[in-house]
Amino acid sequence: MSTETENPTKPYLMTVNGQGRSADTYFKVLNPSTQAIVGLAPQSNQKDVDAAVAAAKNAFPTWSSTPHEERVALCQQIVTLIKNNSEALATLITQEQGKPLNGLGSRWEIGGACAWAEYTTSLNLGVKVLQDNEEGRLELHRKPLGVVASITPWNFPVLIAIWHIMPALVTGNTVVIKPSPYTPLSTLKLVELMNQVLPPGVVNAVAGEDTNENSVGQLLSSHPDVRKVVFTGSTATGKSIMRSAADSMKRLTLELGGNDAGIVLPDADPNTIAEGLFWGAFINNGQTCAALKRLYVHDSIHDEVCDALVEFAKQVPYGDGMDEGSILGPLCTPFQFEKVSRLVSEAAIKGTVHLGGTAANGQFFPPTIISGLKNGDSLVDEEQFGPALPIIRYTDIEDAIQAANDSSSGLGGSVWSSDTQAAASVAKRLECGSVWINRHGMIQPNAPFGGVKSSGLGVEFGEEGLAEYTDIQVVFN
Ligand code: NAD
Repeated sequence: MSTETENPTKPYLMTVNGQGRSADTYFKVLNPSTQAIVGLAPQSNQKDVDAAVAAAKNAFPTWSSTPHEERVALCQQIVTLIKNNSEALATLITQEQGKPLNGLGSRWEIGGACAWAEYTTSLNLGVKVLQDNEEGRLELHRKPLGVVASITPWNFPVLIAIWHIMPALVTGNTVVIKPSPYTPLSTLKLVELMNQVLPPGVVNAVAGEDTNENSVGQLLSSHPDVRKVVFTGSTATGKSIMRSAADSMKRLTLELGGNDAGIVLPDADPNTIAEGLFWGAFINNGQTCAALKRLYVHDSIHDEVCDALVEFAKQVPYGDGMDEGSILGPLCTPFQFEKVSRLVSEAAIKGTVHLGGTAANGQFFPPTIISGLKNGDSLVDEEQFGPALPIIRYTDIEDAIQAANDSSSGLGGSVWSSDTQAAASVAKRLECGSVWINRHGMIQPNAPFGGVKSSGLGVEFGEEGLAEYTDIQVVFN
């Protein structure tokens, strides 16, 4: 099977109304491992966004009245197409995002995308009868909204595109997607594949770098013909999208930043939990919304937990993701690299560096574990979104719970203990949308996922997530 490496200057196209659409200008997408050009991505403008939204709007009446089973059958064909092209898609993700092909990397991402898409096609909200008696029959119907704008980040470019597109399609909406400027190519390729089976206009793709003069995401999220925006990305951009969406009262699902806390209780076995803690924090090099970003460890086992984490981390190789031996890759963006470097160097002055601590070559940063920190330190308070785990010592569980909740974020949290009941009673008190015991970040297609506080609005996944792509109409007869 061919991969996208053959012609690095090949211009990728938007997809509008089932056709490839060229742009007036293109921008380079760079490989964060090598800085080589992976491909040229289209810089969409107002005309392109208008054309994509118009195509989605025109496709909506037919698509929304297509029987559910037919829509689902087409979505299942998409899953087959993704499976048939999985190596090409995984290669493209590795080249533009940096995550390795192996481990919890790009092949794993494609597998997850297929599993999610398949599960989503099994859901059907149907019609709910609320009352049926001599006074009448009361039914709750779920109606598709219209054009859904999907705006995605760079950390899981295919998986998150599937998270947004599939529920929109299954419920009868049409879509315009705009991927991150750092990782647009795999999404453009995915949409091209989808258009091999979907009617024209049902899924469209535009792309673009964000500049002061032009933000394609902003053009989309303020477009009067877009009925809903589903956005995954930073809290700052989420707030800006809320403002853009206000005028036309768009529906919103916002999956935003997190600063997930984990609490290790004194009875946990450091060696047993080290692997789970490591992957909870370092999956995708820490560039994961619901990764463990600060760890509160009881004083009595603090040093053992640090040692066990270091022992596990030392044997995880990092390097160019195209190398089959790499299990972690580089940081995806120069901005992210600078941010992690700054936060770690500030933390290293105050704390004890157990592993890592200084940047490697290029955009690589080794797994870093630093103790001796507390709330108020920048590596603890800010979402570092990188391979650096701050460890905070506590003696009183009440202090740990309070410190964990002392954050404007509330995406995920975890408690680690050999007593699951004791862990559950602490877990319930964490202010976050998902909480795990002896694991972290396990997101599943049947479990509604979303943040509280500044981590978001609404949920994705499961029936609750699907319902967000619909308006309710109550029918009384
Ligand atoms: P980002 O907010 O910078 O960009 C996300 C997307 O928004 C990109 O496509 C970007 O081009 C677009 N965008 C930028 N400005 C815009 C504007 N004014 N209007 C509309 N769209 C605009 O985020 P990022 O750096 O790509 O991703 C990292 C962030 O995403 C982290 O904070 C992370 O926690 C968060 N994230 C959250 C989840 C979740 O499910 N909660 C999942 C993954 C990532």
